[in-house]
Amino acid sequence: MIGKERYPHLFAPLDLGFTQIKNRALMGSMHTGLEESENGFERMAAFFTERARGGVGMIITGGISPNMEGGVGAKLETAEEAASHKTVTDAVHAADPDVKICMQILHAGPLANSPKVVGPSAVKSRIARTTPVALDEEGIEKQLRDFANCASKAREAGYDGVEIIGSAGYLLSTFLVEKTNHRTDQWGGCYENRMRFPVEVVRRVREAVGEDFIVIFRIAAMDMLQGGMSWDEVVQLGKKVETVGANIVSTHFTWHESAVPTISTRVPRAAFVGVTGRLRQELNIPTITSNRINMPDVAEQVLSDGHADIVSMARPMLADADIVLKALEGREDEINTCIACNQACLDHTFAGKETSCLVNPRACHETELNYEPTDAPKRIAVVGAGPAGLGYATVAAERGHKVTLFDSSHEIGGQFNLAKQVPGKEEFHETIRYYNRMIEVLGIDLQLNTRVDVQGLTAADWDEVVIATGIEPRVPDVKGIDHPKVVSYTDVIQGNVQVGKTVAVMGAGGIGFDVAELILHKGKSAALDIEVFAKEWGVDFDNHPRGGVTGVEPQVAKADREVFLLQRKSTPIGRGLGRTTGWTHRISLARRDVKMINGVEYLKVDDEGLHLLVNDMPQLLPVDTVIVCAGQLPLRKLYDELQGSGLSVSLIGGAYEALELDAKTAIKQASYLAAAV
Ligand code: FAD
Ligand code: NAP
Ligand code: SF4
Repeated sequence: MIGKERYPHLFAPLDLGFTQIKNRALMGSMHTGLEESENGFERMAAFFTERARGGVGMIITGGISPNMEGGVGAKLETAEEAASHKTVTDAVHAADPDVKICMQILHAGPLANSPKVVGPSAVKSRIARTTPVALDEEGIEKQLRDFANCASKAREAGYDGVEIIGSAGYLLSTFLVEKTNHRTDQWGGCYENRMRFPVEVVRRVREAVGEDFIVIFRIAAMDMLQGGMSWDEVVQLGKKVETVGANIVSTHFTWHESAVPTISTRVPRAAFVGVTGRLRQELNIPTITSNRINMPDVAEQVLSDGHADIVSMARPMLADADIVLKALEGREDEINTCIACNQACLDHTFAGKETSCLVNPRACHETELNYEPTDAPKRIAVVGAGPAGLGYATVAAERGHKVTLFDSSHEIGGQFNLAKQVPGKEEFHETIRYYNRMIEVLGIDLQLNTRVDVQGLTAADWDEVVIATGIEPRVPDVKGIDHPKVVSYTDVIQGNVQVGKTVAVMGAGGIGFDVAELILHKGKSAALDIEVFAKEWGVDFDNHPRGGVTGVEPQVAKADREVFLLQRKSTPIGRGLGRTTGWTHRISLARRDVKMINGVEYLKVDDEGLHLLVNDMPQLLPVDTVIVCAGQLPLRKLYDELQGSGLSVSLIGGAYEALELDAKTAIKQASYLAAAV
């Protein structure tokens, strides 16, 4: 296989003595929501089986609680619960007996969604709803017993091992740091005592499962907390869990409440692997690294540089179940790359919705969305090669339909060609690369530079016409909107207009934020340069102060420009942004001194600038440029004109509904429709 030569480290087996992992690609743990859904175990079986067939060496499931207090929804405590899990383990092992599947044991501690929230001390997390009850000695003993019981039930359920999560602000990690552990007994105080609970969990689990069962400990190798764990403490913990029975240490780089982005698209690829590499030097057992490793060449580099023994890819396995297989077969250019947007995965998880993937709506929906070969191939014209048109065209062609894809532009991608130019959104290039390749692979007839009008589409030529013509930017009804200082976001992003030193951005949706980021940007994008990233977010990788961040001041490079970001609504600016990424956008602009004003009424634009009412008080912003980012309207003229033409016409994406339309909705809608045509 070509991939074994190209990625020798990735495809090298790993010998754990009693068992072997067939390669170094691990599917990292993700809570998908399937754990609690109806037919959840059947759906999980289908989800994991596709990834097992897709070539991964080892899978870690989403977190499962050892008891009710653990509070992540699904728990494993009883023989009956173990029997349900067998549906998953049997299916994975039947798909490929060489693939290992380990269950993550997750006790959320102070972050639990449980009627009984427990922790080392009664310290409420910034992001939790409840203050935990401090465990007493008996309570601690119960938790330890429950961990051991859960691990032995996981073995009964057919898992090859367990991963114990000791990071992220969940129970084990809250024992480790002084901020959340105020105890003065043997479980608190000095580090030896604070470490006792996680270490005891590992010891009890090992005792319960025997020697021939994989035990992974997930450690917060850099917890990104002010006053978090010091490097010595991380090393000490790693060594200790090794001594008491862990086979593998997996590194994690955050608590959920930390103020550094660690997985979003603005984080450079493989940003944190150097930390794992340092820990690897200290331990005698294999280490796993993770975060923003989304392509096989990145994984190979990490391994060949000696940063880790195994590479964890979680979201990349949502985006493409076959990522490892495609690397093995030398088909990397067919990989549907995770763009780290979090929009359909983590944003859903934190909103209590089922996980999926923006670029692959089949993820976690394998039992309901299938692209079956058609027995009645149709001639389909798709007008518009933005995300909606691309999603439709590729699914329909995969099923055997004969698809012609038109776009008036010289390139495919639609608005993704604007998005990819925003600093921090460079990964959007990958989606366009993927679709370009799939157009070739699937034999789609691509007609660029072709504006389709009603005369260009005749009933004799097409069985189906799909209109995916997208949007046009809204031009608000404001006096002076035609003043020369008023420009559209499309012209700004494409570099068609000069932007002045003082700027008002009219509209604070996703595009308003992106445009503000773009015009304030200076130097290299933090997403492409680990040093710039470290500076912007105040992380010291070299000296590793406590948590990696203690005492480090973030420093941003900023273009010489004053920006006002405006919104009519009185709600806080940026509220509509992604749940898990919105805060990074808000912080980034705040650090660039953007003045955010909500509750405005636009009065007029003239030579003086932008006249507003703010809280009913007149105000003049003496700006040189006003950039309009005031939402979008569906571009459906062609669709309307085709009514009554005798053609079977469908409407998708922004052309169907522009309000709150993002690429997630566009691709999902297109894929479901194309699966049914
Ligand atoms: P479009 O992408 O607008 O594509 C329509 C296509 O139709 C275009 O290529 C156009 O040339 C073509 N066309 C139009 N009329 C004709 C015709 N008559 N004949 C032939 N071709 C025609 N979404 C997210 O989910 N996450 C993000 O982070 C994100 N960031 C963004 C950042 C920016 C700066 C912008 C501008 C958008 C962003 N979006 C984001 C929004 C996302 O890009 C859109 O929701 C998505 O592109 C809509 O897809 P679509 O296919 O419906 O339309
Ligand atoms: P949007 O999120 O709907 O924001 C539009 C903005 O314009 C709002 O601030 C709105 O707030 C304002 N507005 C609406 N009508 C107006 C009017 N008549 N006059 C003046 N202001 C008006 O849309 P968008 O920013 O154009 O983004 C388009 C789509 O792309 C969205 O669905 C978005 O989710 C998606 N996108 C996503 C991301 C991401 O990171 N996930 C990034 C970019 C874009 P007020 O009415 O209160 O002023
Ligand atoms: Fe990756 Fe975005 Fe898909 Fe999540 S939704 S897996 S971040 S591409």
